[in-house]
Amino acid sequence: MNQTVLITGASRGIGRASAVAFARNGYNVAVNYCKSKEKAAALADELNSYGVMTAAYQADVSDKTEVEEMFRKAEQELGKISALVNNAGIAEQILFSDITEEKWDRMFAVNVKGAYNCTQAVLPSMIHEKYGRIINVSSMWGISGASCEVHYSASKAALIGFTKALAKEVGLSGITVNCVAPGVIGTDMNAAISGEILEELKENTPLNRIGTSEDVAEAILFLASDKASFITGQTLSVDGGFIL
Ligand code: NAD
Repeated sequence: MNQTVLITGASRGIGRASAVAFARNGYNVAVNYCKSKEKAAALADELNSYGVMTAAYQADVSDKTEVEEMFRKAEQELGKISALVNNAGIAEQILFSDITEEKWDRMFAVNVKGAYNCTQAVLPSMIHEKYGRIINVSSMWGISGASCEVHYSASKAALIGFTKALAKEVGLSGITVNCVAPGVIGTDMNAAISGEILEELKENTPLNRIGTSEDVAEAILFLASDKASFITGQTLSVDGGFIL
């Protein structure tokens, strides 16, 4: 029987590439989206061509009620969820002194509470099955900190702490919890960064290129696979060597 993965924020970027990678490898895929209904539905159609079951589910990950409803529907339609990828995230470049309380709270509501909501929704069934894979998408800025991204960096660092702590708590239930920490990846999230700054970031990357969504998706797929069955609580950097 196919395993089922739920990927948050899967209508584009790293989430989308992960959905394709999982479907190609025989997983049923629950595609979560917040607003991009058409893109998510088109992706689910595309994934069906891999002979797996897929469907798109709307939920703002920061909203516990919407998240619970999404998991209920996805489990009913696609089967028990054995892997969760907490990928949905927002970013913002702004001076620390300009981060309003509202901006701070929204950053944590999506990037951290979103992972909390989704993990809480799936964990009882993973514990019951004595099997599960949880992969959180952090960032290299959660490790090193980025100037003008204090709330983003802090939220991504929080995910690393979340990962380590939960890994210790649920290991006995056969559940692994890991993080990926992408570097500079060519997605919509970086669309506002000027060509000049992107070039500079590329030059500061030992592998001398901007990463692709597929680079990150392959690392996520690995952490979900049996090949990673003795790996938990770890943060796997996918950053071309940016942070060493
Ligand atoms: P992206 O902006 O293309 O994707 C983010 C996705 O999250 C989108 O599909 C968006 O709709 C979704 N999302 C946002 N708020 C949501 C909410 N409240 N509920 C549900 N979905 C929501 O960017 P991406 O680069 O693909 O980002 C994916 C993840 O990778 C994010 O967590 C991001 O922080 C992380 N990341 C990205 C980079 C990079 O350079 N692109 C680097 C490090 C980490």
